[in-house]
Amino acid sequence: MKRVAIIGAGIAGLSTAYYLYKLSHQRGKPLEIVLIEKEGRLGGSILTERAEGFLMEGGPDCFLSEKPWALQLCRELGLEGEVVGTNQAVRRTFIIWRGGLHEIPEGFMLLAPTSLWPFVKSSLFSLPGKLRMGLDLIIPRKKPDKEESLAAFVRRRLGREALERIAEPLIAGIHAGDPEAMSLQSTFPRFIDLERDHRSLIWGMYQRKRRFLSHLNSPYIMFVTMKKGMGQMVSALEETLSPKTIFMKHEVMGVERVEGDAAGRPRYHLRIRGEERGLEADALVLATPAFITARLLQGIDADIVDQLHTIPYCSTATINLAYRRSQIGHPLDGYGFVVPRLEGLKIMAATFSSVKFPGRAPKGMVLLRCFVGGAKDEEMVAWGNEKLLAAVKEDIAEILRIEGAPFLVRIFRWAKAMPQYTLGHEKRLSLIERGLSRHPGLFLTGSAYRGIGISDCVHQGELTAQEVLKFIKN
Ligand SMILES: Cc1cc2nc3c(=O)[nH]c(=O)nc-3n(C[C@H](O)[C@H](O)[C@H](O)COP(=O)(O)OP(=O)(O)OC[C@H]3O[C@@H](n4cnc5c(N)ncnc54)[C@H](O)[C@@H]3O)c2cc1C
Repeated sequence: MKRVAIIGAGIAGLSTAYYLYKLSHQRGKPLEIVLIEKEGRLGGSILTERAEGFLMEGGPDCFLSEKPWALQLCRELGLEGEVVGTNQAVRRTFIIWRGGLHEIPEGFMLLAPTSLWPFVKSSLFSLPGKLRMGLDLIIPRKKPDKEESLAAFVRRRLGREALERIAEPLIAGIHAGDPEAMSLQSTFPRFIDLERDHRSLIWGMYQRKRRFLSHLNSPYIMFVTMKKGMGQMVSALEETLSPKTIFMKHEVMGVERVEGDAAGRPRYHLRIRGEERGLEADALVLATPAFITARLLQGIDADIVDQLHTIPYCSTATINLAYRRSQIGHPLDGYGFVVPRLEGLKIMAATFSSVKFPGRAPKGMVLLRCFVGGAKDEEMVAWGNEKLLAAVKEDIAEILRIEGAPFLVRIFRWAKAMPQYTLGHEKRLSLIERGLSRHPGLFLTGSAYRGIGISDCVHQGELTAQEVLKFIKN
């Protein structure tokens, strides 16, 4: 039986293992799948914890339903009834501007307004700012010459105010990155399509929204999660795999290419910490962060390693804080808020977790979740608990009019966990792919490459499993 080793049991590695298992059984030719994870738990950035009746997410708290792959996986895992959407009674998010909370106008789709009246009435933008955004309707297309940063694109089409007050904080809330450095093509390629197809972003978004809504039978819920938290997906994936497949607390230290079969195809030997013999595999999938993958492939291909090292990562931390409802003066009538860099606050964003999703806090209690770090303030992630907590509490106490101390706090640090798709990302990926063609049976997958969202990672896992099977069959 052919053996496939997968290093890293985040959602990408787990999805690869699941789809490999499923597809190889469908073909009637089962494989030996070995999933190797250095930690004593599965899920990587996905981490759900329960304490004193609260359900806290350390990493992702939801995924995008518009990208179908994570929902499809939930269906296959029998979890469809466990998927819940955001609370439709308070469908709004706020942005801090000049110290106050302003609602993102209804109909705003990430960067551009698609409903006129809420945008015109909005207190978030100045009159000249609104007029400048409106110019998007007549500004001609730009001929694609060289790659554009996200910031340059937003400034060109919608103006500086749109960038500073809405695009930068919303994008930081997703990628924790700096829009001046981020590649538009690799992070939001659909904006390039919108400009190409409709010229105007506003008009294009409006058309897309209309089409999307008219095709949808269910209520329009963009973000969904699991009733018992995102960890539920991880547990369900684990249950589909045989316990003999999963090796936790096994850190891979290096990979060597060794002589393979009669057809001249190589095999891969994995060095594992504390294991003298290591492990050999006919195909190898690395679902680890790019900088780890670079370290593991050092002895195999210097060009791939060089490219992997150019994918930067940034660090973030999430701080879950539990309060009694009566301690908070703000009505909490939304999903949370994001903070533009210009505001000079320590927090990047905050989610009203127990308002956004059901089942996160006991009755009469509130669970808030704050984000710090990212490209904006990375060094904060290394602060001690006391200093970090003091900074976060100071910011939210003022914004949400909070009195007294939280009675439960949980800090999750994510060192170098968010890959950044900076300018040149696509070129990097094609060089990596060219390099991989020199090593049959070697595959890379995960958030470093073609999408950081949960659904993208599931999709990449599925595609990688298909590639592996194609390779094994040949
Ligand atoms: C704080 C935070 C909030 C987020 N929020 C959202 C959100 O709300 N929605 C969304 O869609 N996405 C969100 N994301 C992004 C998303 O969670 C990640 O992009 C995704 O989970 C990454 O999955 P992955 O499998 O590629 O990598 P990882 O989850 O990083 O998994 C890699 C695995 O490899 C293991 N590993 C590393 N080195 C070795 C080694 N030498 N040997 C063996 N194993 C090794 C690691 O321990 C880890 O388990 C968030 C990310 C973070 C950090």
